[in-house]
Amino acid sequence: MKTAYPVYMEADVVVCGGGTAGAFAAIAAAEQGKKVLVIEQFGSLGGTATNGLVTPVMHTHMRTDPQCSYIQKKLVEKQLKYTGCNEKGNMFDPLVLRLALEELCVEAGVNLLYHTYIANVEVENGSVTAVKIVNKAGEQLVKGKMFIDATGDGDVSVMAGAAYTKGNPETGINQPMSLRYILGGIDIPKAGAFLRGEAERTGLIGAYCKEEDPYNTLYAGGVASKPWALTEWFDAGIASGELEPMDKAYWQVFTIPGRRDGLAFNCPEFFENIDATNPDDLTISQLKGKKAIFRQLMYYRKHFPGFENAYVAEIAAMVGIRESREIVTEYVMEARDLFAQRKFEDMFCQSNYPIDVHGKAHNCSFDGIEKDEARPWYDIPYRSIVVKGLENLFVTGRCLGAEFIVQSSLRVQHSVRSSGEAAGIAAAMAIDAGIPAREVDGKKVRETMISLGAEYQDI
Ligand SMILES: Cc1cc2nc3c(=O)[nH]c(=O)nc-3n(C[C@H](O)[C@H](O)[C@H](O)COP(=O)(O)OP(=O)(O)OC[C@H]3O[C@@H](n4cnc5c(N)ncnc54)[C@H](O)[C@@H]3O)c2cc1C
Repeated sequence: MKTAYPVYMEADVVVCGGGTAGAFAAIAAAEQGKKVLVIEQFGSLGGTATNGLVTPVMHTHMRTDPQCSYIQKKLVEKQLKYTGCNEKGNMFDPLVLRLALEELCVEAGVNLLYHTYIANVEVENGSVTAVKIVNKAGEQLVKGKMFIDATGDGDVSVMAGAAYTKGNPETGINQPMSLRYILGGIDIPKAGAFLRGEAERTGLIGAYCKEEDPYNTLYAGGVASKPWALTEWFDAGIASGELEPMDKAYWQVFTIPGRRDGLAFNCPEFFENIDATNPDDLTISQLKGKKAIFRQLMYYRKHFPGFENAYVAEIAAMVGIRESREIVTEYVMEARDLFAQRKFEDMFCQSNYPIDVHGKAHNCSFDGIEKDEARPWYDIPYRSIVVKGLENLFVTGRCLGAEFIVQSSLRVQHSVRSSGEAAGIAAAMAIDAGIPAREVDGKKVRETMISLGAEYQDI
C-alpha cells in the first residue's frame, strides 16, 4: 500500500467501526485521557443494535445478571432521559440508543468520523501504523498508536494479516442473517390479547402479554420446526399464498419502550446466501428482506387483531449479521471452555447465555464434562481480544477470538459491550506503559473496570 495519502488525523486510539463494541471502546479509552477517533461507515453509532434494529439486550442467564461494564449504567441513564428503555435498560428503542451512544462519546471527547469506510491497513514490523479510509474527501490515512478492530467482521485484523476462522467448522456455513424491521400503528393491548388468546387456545407457548401491562410485556416468537401459538396462522397464510414458507422459518416480536404503537420484529431470517463478507449476499438479503417485510405486513393487517392500521416504520439499514469471521487471538475460546464453564485469571466478562445456533441443534457436546455448579457461568479472558501476531491491535465484539459454538453465545450485546470497554481501557494502559497489547495485564484491566463501577458476580 502506498503511503502518499494525506493524513486525516493522528490519534492515540483508532476505533475501527462504531457499533456497540466500538462505541464502548471509544468511550472507555477517551475517559482514560486518550485522543480517540471512531471511523464508521454509517451516520450513527450502535451498528447492529441500532442500524440493524436489534433489540432487546439478552439476559446473561446468571443469578445477578452482572453487566461487566461501567459504561452500561451511564448508557441506561441517557436512554431513560429520552424514555427509550425500561428501568433495567434491556428493552430499548434502537433510535434512542443511537443518540445515547453519540452523547456519551461526545461528552467523553471522542472524535467521530461518519460515512467513512476503512479500506486497507498499513503494517510495519508487526504493528498497525495506519488505516486507509475512503469517503467523499477521497482516500486518506488515519495514524494511531493502538487500533481496535470493532468492525464485527474483523475487517481490519484480516487486512493486517491476522488468521481467522469462519462459519460452522463442519460446513463452513455462517449463522443465518436477518433483516429486522419495526412496525408502527399497532393497537398493542388488542394485539396482546390476540397473542395471549392464541397461547391459551392452542395450549402452546411462544406468545405472551400481560393484560395489565401490554406495552412492556408483549412478546411472541417461534420457529417452523416446533409448533407454537401462531403456527396455524402461518400455515394458513402459506396455504392461501399470502405468505411464503420462509415467513414462518423464524418469527419473533418485542415491544419497544416509548413506542406505544410500535413492535420490533426479529425477522425475516435467511438461511441461504449468508456470507456477510460477500457484498452480493448482503444485497440479496436487502432485496428479499424488504419483499418479505411488506408481504408479512399485508398479512398481519388482514388477519391479526390489533394490526389493522399497522405500517412499516423502519427497515434496518444494515443486514443483521449474527456471525461471519472469528479472529485468531492470543487465546481462542474453545467449546470446551463454555461447556465446562471455565474461569480465567484475566477475565473481563462473565456470561451463561446459552449456545444459540439458529436453524439446527448445536453440533458439539462433551460427554462427561463437569460443569461448575457452584459458579455456573463461563469467563471471557482478556487474551481473546488481543489479535495474535500484531503488537497493537485489539479485536472486540462478535468477531473476537472464539470457536463458532462459543461465538453463538458471546455475540449478544452484554458481552460485546464488555469486550469494547475492556479493549478501550487496555489500549490506554498499553500506551501509558509503552508495551504491546499482549503484555497488558488482563487482571488490571478488569480491576480498572471495577473501580469505575463495572459489576461482576461472586468474585
Ligand atoms: C438478527 C440479530 C438478532 C440478534 N438478537 C439479539 C438480541 O436479541 N439480544 C442481544 O443481546 N444480541 C442480539 N444479537 C447479537 C448482537 O446484536 C450483535 O452481535 C452485536 O450487536 C454486535 O456488535 P458489534 O459491535 O460486535 O458489531 P456491530 O454492531 O455489527 O458493529 C460493527 C460496526 O462497524 C462498522 N463497520 C464494519 N466494517 C466497516 C468498515 N470496513 N469501515 C467502516 N465501518 C465498518 C459497521 O457499520 C458497524 O457499525 C442479534 C444479532 C442479530 C444479527
